Amino acid sequence: MKLDLTKDEKRLVAYAKKKTLLNCKKRKSNGLCDQLVAFVLSESGKIYDGVCFESELPTTNICGEAHAIANMMMAETKVAKIKSILVTSPFPRETDKGPMPCGKCRHTIHEFGTPKTTVLSGAFVKKGKDWIIFSQLDKYNAFKLYPNPYVQTKWD
Ligand SMILES: [Zn+2]
Repeated sequence: MKLDLTKDEKRLVAYAKKKTLLNCKKRKSNGLCDQLVAFVLSESGKIYDGVCFESELPTTNICGEAHAIANMMMAETKVAKIKSILVTSPFPRETDKGPMPCGKCRHTIHEFGTPKTTVLSGAFVKKGKDWIIFSQLDKYNAFKLYPNPYVQTKWD
């Protein structure tokens, strides 16, 4: 099935393909063990990279989505909004299904997104000796992935 992507989403996918392959080669050479990479396209049109950071202390782990969103915030301030975010694995896997944001990241994407924000999930697969990047690409509306967001209680 042909996926209906906007011009901006096509640019994000092309950027993510190139950067994921570069990251994968770098990762292999320095032994990183990241599990996911993410690319945020902000409303400004700029793209920010993020990579999952895993520590020996699990509560200190940082998801790739959070890293990419933090990079957007650092560059554009807290008023920045996410137009689209693409998540994928940093190395080829055996599955045809791309990764999905965890619950915490769905909240963060919702908080810094708009009702039009999209989430793209790309499968990076290994078929025999071949690497096929984004053999499967799925598109979701961020607000539909997280329809009832957490709202902090305000105490008097
Ligand atoms: Zn996450």
